[in-house]
Amino acid sequence: MSARSQAVATCVFLLGCGACASAAGAQQAAPFVLSGITAAPGSSASGELRVPAGPDGEGTFIPFTVLHGTRPGPVLALVSGVHGAEYPPILASQRLRASIDPRTLTGTVVLVHVANMPSFLKRTIYYGPTDGKNLNRVFPGRRDGTLSERIADVLTREIVDRATHLVDIHCGDGNEWLRPYSYWVVTGPREVVAASKDLALAFGLDHIVLDTERPKDPAASIYLANTAITRGKPALTVESGGWARTDEESIDRIERGVAGVLRHLGMRPGGPGPEAHPVWLGRNEVLRSGFTGLLYPMVEPGQTVAPGTLVARVTDFRGMVLEEIRSPFAGEVLYVVATPPINKGEPVGFVAERATALLY
Ligand SMILES: [Zn+2]
Repeated sequence: MSARSQAVATCVFLLGCGACASAAGAQQAAPFVLSGITAAPGSSASGELRVPAGPDGEGTFIPFTVLHGTRPGPVLALVSGVHGAEYPPILASQRLRASIDPRTLTGTVVLVHVANMPSFLKRTIYYGPTDGKNLNRVFPGRRDGTLSERIADVLTREIVDRATHLVDIHCGDGNEWLRPYSYWVVTGPREVVAASKDLALAFGLDHIVLDTERPKDPAASIYLANTAITRGKPALTVESGGWARTDEESIDRIERGVAGVLRHLGMRPGGPGPEAHPVWLGRNEVLRSGFTGLLYPMVEPGQTVAPGTLVARVTDFRGMVLEEIRSPFAGEVLYVVATPPINKGEPVGFVAERATALLY
């Protein structure tokens, strides 16, 4: 932006000067309409996406807020609560509604406050209470599917399709003890991968996992962020907080990350700069339990592990050891499951190794 256009923009936004407004009139944003709710330029509006009832008879709703800037620009979707027991993203979303001023915004922010309302209200981890499906494994969803699949379908059509950029905001689920990190998907189109890397740096979490195994088929995108990426839109998944806590540190970290993204996309002047010293994590593995029983974590998030380090023990319901799960390589623990229930095949922890070279 030139110095002159910057001056014009400042005048229009802050002073409402008629002369400058006419000079910049061509840049005035049109109203933004979502699910029948209209946000005029420089204002916000809240509403609900309706998820209709299907054969199972249950529908639900998805509360959202549109913060619509005075000038056209990126449409940034910030989605919280895909997993309903992940509270810092949901609480940060409420604060962002109050702290992002549409009068000084370029472009549009769409806050999805609680994507998975059935999971939130029923306090479930991983799985929807009605269909037992993980919402973040059923994208792009199905209009005639189960409740989780119908939620995914609405999010794909109403949020992903309307956005130019998307951040899917997570934390450790109610049973997961986690150190903050983000996932950078490297399997998309080259320019989308590059732009998504910049988003990750702008969000500012210093540990970034290279996600090399996401599907490229938009009809089988599985994950929310990958649904955006397979549709040509830069996207990111971030993790801050966990273990059903509502700590300020994890909420603040999300607010700071969004501020960094808004600055990076030119949507708001000022804000924190990108992460200068990221730790790139290449090889990574979710370690899983081979048994149903009780889980005893033996490491903490952020802990460095060697090949063979004991990560967790699984016992039967009487306390007999069934399995010892060990790290397959040297790396760092990003999360461990830290409550006793464990089902065969479920994650017990996530370890990742520092990347020696960035090939993307
Ligand atoms: Zn999650």
